[in-house]
Amino acid sequence: MHEWALAEATVETVRREAAGRRVVSVQLAFGELQQVDRDIFAAAVAECAAGTGIDASVFRVEEEPARFACRVCDRPWSLADVPGLTEDEREAVHLLPEAAHAYLRCPGCGSTDFDVVAGRGVTVTAIELETEAPR
Ligand SMILES: [Zn+2]
Repeated sequence: MHEWALAEATVETVRREAAGRRVVSVQLAFGELQQVDRDIFAAAVAECAAGTGIDASVFRVEEEPARFACRVCDRPWSLADVPGLTEDEREAVHLLPEAAHAYLRCPGCGSTDFDVVAGRGVTVTAIELETEAPR
């Protein structure tokens, strides 16, 4: 259940960052290639946040599109740039990012030698904290 590990790490990151201040909102980016069950994740966050003083409803999730970079011609590209990708292939890439190299090639030069530069993992992109009251 990697949703739980992700939720735990997320809440811990926010708790450390907040250092006792009230958390107003947290923006999370879920990579397009990262299979995360959002319902399970939300439940896990609620559980992990319990007792930390962080309200589970402050967490907002958005999807980060996958991006690739060709090692041969340096061209940056995304799934939308790949022509003729079937629904099944797209699905396979989403379920198993490691399969990307079997199904995808650089739309510029056709090379299968590329890096996945974005779209994996879960990132905390912004944390809004209550500003301290003036003394
Ligand atoms: Zn290329």
